[in-house]
Amino acid sequence: MTQSYVIIGDGIAGSSAAETLREEAPESDITVITDEGEALYNRILIKEFAKGKLPEAPISIHEEDWYAEREIDLALNTHVTEIDPDAHTIYTHESDTYEYDKLLVATGGTPTQLPVDNSDADGIHHFWTFQDARNIAEHAERADTGAVVGAGLLGIDLAAICGAQDIDANYFMRGNRWWRYALSEEGAEIIHDGLREKGVTPVFDSGVDAFVTDDDGKVTATVTPDGEEHDSDFVGVAIGLDFNVEVLQGTGVETDDGVVVDEYMQTNVDDIYAAGDLTRFYDTILNDHGQNGSWGSAKEQGQVAAKNMVADGESEAFRWVSSYSITHFDFPFLSFGHPTLGDNHIERKYSDTEWRRLALKDGKIIGGVLIGDLAPQSAFKQLVREERDVSGQTDVLLEEEVDLEELEAPQKEQ
Ligand SMILES: Cc1cc2nc3c(=O)[nH]c(=O)nc-3n(C[C@H](O)[C@H](O)[C@H](O)COP(=O)(O)OP(=O)(O)OC[C@H]3O[C@@H](n4cnc5c(N)ncnc54)[C@H](O)[C@@H]3O)c2cc1C
Repeated sequence: MTQSYVIIGDGIAGSSAAETLREEAPESDITVITDEGEALYNRILIKEFAKGKLPEAPISIHEEDWYAEREIDLALNTHVTEIDPDAHTIYTHESDTYEYDKLLVATGGTPTQLPVDNSDADGIHHFWTFQDARNIAEHAERADTGAVVGAGLLGIDLAAICGAQDIDANYFMRGNRWWRYALSEEGAEIIHDGLREKGVTPVFDSGVDAFVTDDDGKVTATVTPDGEEHDSDFVGVAIGLDFNVEVLQGTGVETDDGVVVDEYMQTNVDDIYAAGDLTRFYDTILNDHGQNGSWGSAKEQGQVAAKNMVADGESEAFRWVSSYSITHFDFPFLSFGHPTLGDNHIERKYSDTEWRRLALKDGKIIGGVLIGDLAPQSAFKQLVREERDVSGQTDVLLEEEVDLEELEAPQKEQ
C-alpha cells in the first residue's frame, strides 16, 4: 500500500525531511504544507538582505519546481489548525483535510512580543521570515534612530542591521553584557567593542518599559526602566521564540517548552514525529533532553525524522554537535554544542579580538564559544562527540593551538 507522509512546515527541517523521504520511499505520497507564501529560503541569509548587502535571488533555496520535479505536493499559504491523531487527519484554515500515515510537525517558532505598552506599534520589528526582512530593510533605509532589545544571537543581527543601515541605535540589555549565559564579561567586551565600531551603543542593566508612539501609531521613542525616553523610529525586538505547538493541542503529544521527542524524533503519540527548532529532543551526547535553534541541527533532525518515519522509528538516532556563527564583525565568532549549559567553564583571552570559553559537564566538553580564531572548532567538536573525559587538562584545551595528541589517552571502560 502507498504510504502517505505529511509535513507541516517548509523550513529547513520540513524541507530536508521531504527530500529524504523521497529518497527513502520513492513510491510514497509526500505533502508539505506551509503558511508562508514562498518555498524554502535561507533564513540565515535574510539578515544580509535586511542589511542591504544582498539581493533577494540568492536567498531562495527551492523554487516551486523543485517540489514538482520530486513529486512532492507543496501547499503554500496554508495554515494547519488541527490534528486528529485517531483519524490520522489534519485540518487547515480553509477546512481542507489531509490524511496521513506518518506526520512530521516542523513548525518552528514565532518571535515573542515584549509585554509592554505599544509593543505592536508601527516600526517595531520582530525578525523571523523573509517578509520580516523585507519590511526591516525598507524601514531601516529611511530610519535615523533605533533601539534593539534582546541580548542573544538574533538580537545581535538586528543591532548589526542598524549599524549597516547607518541608524544611530542603542542596544538595551538586561544584564551587564551580551549573551550573558554563554559569555563572561571579558569575552562579551570584544562583542561590545565590535558593536560600538558599527555605531551601535550597548546599554547595560537596562530594558524596555514601554514605547512611545505618535498620532499615527508609529513608534518614536523607547522608555527604559529608569524612565528615560530614547528616540527610536526603528525598533528591533528579539527576546525569544514561542514554539508553534498550538496545532498539537488536544492530540496528547507531550510538550514542555517545545515538542518532546526521543532521539529518533518520535513524539509519544503513534505516527507523529517532530523536527527542527521546536523540539526538545533526547540528546545522546548530553544524555538528557536538550534544545537547539540552529540551521544545521534542524536540517539533520529533518533527515533523521524522515528515515525513522519510513523505518517505524528503527533507523538512525540524532547525534549532532551544532554550531552557529556570526559574521557581522571583523573577527569571526562561533558557538557550538550547548554553550549555556555545564557545571564548569574554562576560558582564556588571547588578544583584543581572540577569546575562547568551553562549557564542561562531568569533565566532558559539551559546548563553547570561540571568538577570533575558529581553528580549534573541529578538535573541540570531536571531543564532544567522543564524550571524552578531559578533566584536569585545562592547559591543553586552552593552548592557542589545540593538539589532541597532547591530551591524556581516554580511559578504557572497565
Ligand atoms: C534572522 C535569523 C538569522 C539566523 N541566523 C542563523 C545562523 O547564522 N546560523 C544558524 O545556525 N541558525 C540561524 N538562524 C536559526 C535558523 O534559521 C533556524 O534554527 C532554522 O531555520 C529552524 O528551522 P525549522 O525548519 O525548525 O523552523 P522554521 O524555519 O521556523 O520553519 C517552520 C515553518 O513552519 C511554518 N508553520 C508554522 N506553523 C504552521 C502551521 N500551523 N501551518 C503551516 N505552517 C506552519 C512557519 O511559517 C515556517 O515556515 C537564524 C534565524 C533567523 C530568523
